[in-house]
Amino acid sequence: SVFQHTTFYTTVNQLWQLPPPDGVEIAFAGRSNAGKSSAINSLTNRARLAFVSKTPGRTQHINFFQLGSGRFLVDLPGYGYAKVPAEIRQHWEHLLSTYLQTRESLHGMVLIMDVRHPLTPLDRQMLNWFASTGKPVHVLLTKSDKLSRQQAAKILKDVLLFLRETYPQCSVQLFSSMTREGVEEAAALLGTWLGL
Ligand code: GDP
Repeated sequence: SVFQHTTFYTTVNQLWQLPPPDGVEIAFAGRSNAGKSSAINSLTNRARLAFVSKTPGRTQHINFFQLGSGRFLVDLPGYGYAKVPAEIRQHWEHLLSTYLQTRESLHGMVLIMDVRHPLTPLDRQMLNWFASTGKPVHVLLTKSDKLSRQQAAKILKDVLLFLRETYPQCSVQLFSSMTREGVEEAAALLGTWLGL
């Protein structure tokens, strides 16, 4: 895999802490528990790489992983916790929306959605924030192993139809960290985004 040599780079919780926008970045976003850490780990073949983002106190942080010189995977804070204090939520919204809308080195976003619960309001919020940039989004419908082939195919089709109308720069596929369905497909696309 092109992601074989991924290492932890840095973690930030304020916009001013972001590393200089010199490289090429791909950001991973998703509702908490959708399978984002597992997807990052599957794509990088590193069982505990994304574990860092789950460290208590770091769940609101943006974590950077380096893939070789000047190329980064960026793990954005998971969203959708039931009860988050308004202050924290406002900080999250400011951090995420500003990062997504203004980050020059950001090439595209991978949006992680549990195939059984796609397109939640916050998923749509992420798409709306990113839409103005014109940059591509790739959706991974994770945990595809939890559904039958027919059920998964139906949801894939519905999500594709919705996204075609609302976000033309968006592609979508089924994914499973458990069976590794779609891992090679996703890695190939992200490799082209990174110019690898
Ligand atoms: P995150 O909060 O989005 O980073 O989600 P995690 O990667 O920590 O996954 C949340 C839960 O879903 C964990 O219990 C995982 O083992 C499980 N999970 C993640 N991906 C898959 C998958 O592809 N298939 C199945 N069956 N379970 C998964």
